Amino acid sequence: MRLSRYFVPVLKETPSEAQIASHRLMLRAGMIKQASAGIYSWLPLGFKVLRKLENIVHEEQVRAGHIPMLMPTLQSADLWRESGRYDDYGEEMLRITDRHGRDMLYGPTNEELITDIFRSYVGSYRDLPLTLYHIQWKFRDEIRPRFGVMRGREFYMKDGYNFDLTKDDALHAYNRHLVSYLRTYERMGLQAIPMRADGGPIGGDYTHEFLVLAETGESEVFYDSQITDLKFGDREIDYDSVDQCQAVLEEFTSRYARTDETHDEALFNEIPEDRRRSARGIEVGQIFYFGTKYSEAMGATVATPDGGRVPVHMGSHGIGVSRLLGAIIEASHDENGIIWPEGVTPFHCGIVNLKQGDAAADAACDDLYKALTGHGLDPLYDDREERAGAKFATMDLIGLPWRITVGPRGLKNGVVELTSRRTGESEELAPELAVARIAEIYAGI
Ligand code: ATP
Ligand code: MG
Repeated sequence: MRLSRYFVPVLKETPSEAQIASHRLMLRAGMIKQASAGIYSWLPLGFKVLRKLENIVHEEQVRAGHIPMLMPTLQSADLWRESGRYDDYGEEMLRITDRHGRDMLYGPTNEELITDIFRSYVGSYRDLPLTLYHIQWKFRDEIRPRFGVMRGREFYMKDGYNFDLTKDDALHAYNRHLVSYLRTYERMGLQAIPMRADGGPIGGDYTHEFLVLAETGESEVFYDSQITDLKFGDREIDYDSVDQCQAVLEEFTSRYARTDETHDEALFNEIPEDRRRSARGIEVGQIFYFGTKYSEAMGATVATPDGGRVPVHMGSHGIGVSRLLGAIIEASHDENGIIWPEGVTPFHCGIVNLKQGDAAADAACDDLYKALTGHGLDPLYDDREERAGAKFATMDLIGLPWRITVGPRGLKNGVVELTSRRTGESEELAPELAVARIAEIYAGI
């Protein structure tokens, strides 16, 4: 993409309404625009990152054997009356009446709708296990929407639902989700720690929240510092293997890590003092096993092998896709702007032409652009008639992990400059080598 033909409405001034870095930087980098409180338009750059995150989530869900689908945003109140949550959910639920006077709502989550789908079509243990998920906009009329996309009213969420014959099977599904979530967040360049949490209105005894440590996080968390040394890495997991998934769960949840809701001071104090940490975190996902809570209320039963009929065991599992943009930026930025991890960057690298209109510089940039796209890469070429300083500032703000700087002086010596956004280190090298280097960096991503 050529920047002159793109749409990145960068702001020079720091917007006064933004209290935290991610919100500020997303506004300044022209990624989002508030439409009304807690509701945002996703401008091209923000939308591009949102799509990347969504793709990673899809890939990891499908890898775990979960099946994608799509449910609507608007739901009928009747299903929520069956589960009893129409009254329980309170003011966070946006309630709407259609022209025929029917009560509708903008879905804050989808347990009822998916349970209705399940009971309509599935009646036998032979069709289990089954895990369905979708990525869809949700609406919660948060009392205090703030921090940009971190606590929106409209937000994008992956929510998945497992249906199993027995509690043990459902706990395997729970573990499978935990494993797939660890992989998902690491691919986004994030460390998200599973912490024991509270069931809240969805209910359930087994639940973990995934937290990204950040000073601006809304949750208070307590953990054993050893947990931050754990990496999922590139290990291969057989998601059908009960033992393998269980082993990962044990590895990642055996050390103390809890949110304030479940914090136990006595247990915490058993950790050696130098490893005790209290900090703040951003909740980027949560997994639940809640048994037969919805299946019993809504009559979602299956035939068992011995001819009986039982309500299915269920769990639900959410990832806050739009909140993740904010979380990634909170975890990865400096005073000049965003620093995208390679796995989610909107463009793979930037090309900065120091002297637009100079025949040699223009030609070299065009060649670089072609060579990079030839490798399947997606560069952003700053071809505007701007001062070098302004171009660098824009690139730093947007935060692409790599920048190639092209100028007449370097070209005389046959070199361009390759700069890492994260370290600020630069290297002069031949244009072909710069392309090869970038292609190599992204080859494994
Ligand atoms: P919170 O405690 O932050 O209000 P929650 O526990 O109510 O969140 P869940 O029902 O667990 O949220 O939803 C799954 C995920 O959706 C959360 O882990 C979070 O990442 C995301 N999410 C929830 N509420 C919001 C919101 N208002 N804005 C953006 N993302 C959200
Ligand atoms: Mg939650």
